[in-house]
Amino acid sequence: MIEMDDAIRIVMENTQRVDKVSVPLNDALGGVLSEDVKSDIDMPPFDKATMDGYALQGADITNASKETPAILDVIEEIPAGTVPQKTVRGGQASRIMTGAPVPDGADTVIMVEDTESTDGGQKVCVLDVTEKGMNIARHGEDVRVDQVVLEAGTVIRPLEIGILAAVGQVNVPVYRQPIVGVVATGSEVVEPQHKPEPGQIRNSNGYSMVAQAIRAGAQTRYLGIVEDDAAALIRTIGEGLETCDIVALSGGVSAGDYDLVQDGMRELGVEVLFDRIRMKPGKPLTFGVKGAKQVFGLPGNPVSSVVGLELLMRPAIRKMQGRADLHRPVVRTVLSEDFRQSPGRKQFVPAHSVAGDHGIWTSEWVGHHGSADLFSMARANSLFIVDAEVEVVRAGEELDLVLLEDW
Ligand code: AMP
Ligand code: MG
Repeated sequence: MIEMDDAIRIVMENTQRVDKVSVPLNDALGGVLSEDVKSDIDMPPFDKATMDGYALQGADITNASKETPAILDVIEEIPAGTVPQKTVRGGQASRIMTGAPVPDGADTVIMVEDTESTDGGQKVCVLDVTEKGMNIARHGEDVRVDQVVLEAGTVIRPLEIGILAAVGQVNVPVYRQPIVGVVATGSEVVEPQHKPEPGQIRNSNGYSMVAQAIRAGAQTRYLGIVEDDAAALIRTIGEGLETCDIVALSGGVSAGDYDLVQDGMRELGVEVLFDRIRMKPGKPLTFGVKGAKQVFGLPGNPVSSVVGLELLMRPAIRKMQGRADLHRPVVRTVLSEDFRQSPGRKQFVPAHSVAGDHGIWTSEWVGHHGSADLFSMARANSLFIVDAEVEVVRAGEELDLVLLEDW
């Protein structure tokens, strides 16, 4: 039996990044860049008007006001998407729209609200001063050609999608999504569409595991339910090892006569690196590797399965995908009520927590009015951590709290 910190360290030490692929821009959301991305153009690509108004020479309007407007000849109109044809000289202005290139000769754009068109658009009265150089975004002021705009390792959010589009990166270099194969074990386990017969239970773990793996960034392959039979188990774990990066099993890892997962793993050449963690929930959690492939044997108890996957497998999925932020954020919390445990194992307790003053959260154990089953656990947004040797945590005492925001 090992400590939780050691278990996490062993899993991380035995996690390798998956290979690089190129995906179309529209499929890149949530991916992690495997290479730096550079701009292929200057941005803005030209001096650009940032207001609708008139491009002119600032020197012409230094004394303009409502009472003494500067009156200029309008020499052309420049809608966005066109190129100016004329040079603006003293006493002249070009009507210009937001996004259009500023014409040669002009050094300032005055917004249309500070002007009045006269002579059927042939002249413009400027009614206010505006500082020389205003309302122009300069060529290359955001980004220069060949400048790195996104670094390798960046997680692609909607904003990054926009940046990739702006620099013309229509095929995006990312790490491929890790593939997680999910297996539910147990002769008592039936698929959700069946009403359980006496002695049977529905397979909830298989489905929550698939969902959690997707949230962690993986692609999933559901490999079905396997009864407690050594040959069947070996066949399915073997299939998972061939087609997936991670095989995640539910159940069959306790000390019972029908708990055959560890044996099956070893039979297939998987090196079992630990099979018990001094943690609660989820003591009989098994982890092994075969080359770069990983096998997680999660306990059948639904709460144990959910917590074990979250704390151990999720960081592995994220590391495989090249992410740097592997673990959930940990903050400090106080409990709203006393909490007791029988000492011996570090406990991760599902809790409903709210942010409070000075960065300290307040947590309420969701299992307080019943066992910590999946149903009461659905209220949890966090896990508070009680050290193994502690017997009582008093209300108001500070603890570490793992936040599970997108749970
Ligand atoms: P095991 O780890 O196989 O001994 O299972 C521990 C407990 O979890 C037993 O009560 C099982 O019936 C239950 N269990 C096992 N697999 C699942 C599953 N896929 N979905 C829901 N509960 C399960
Ligand atoms: Mg079982």
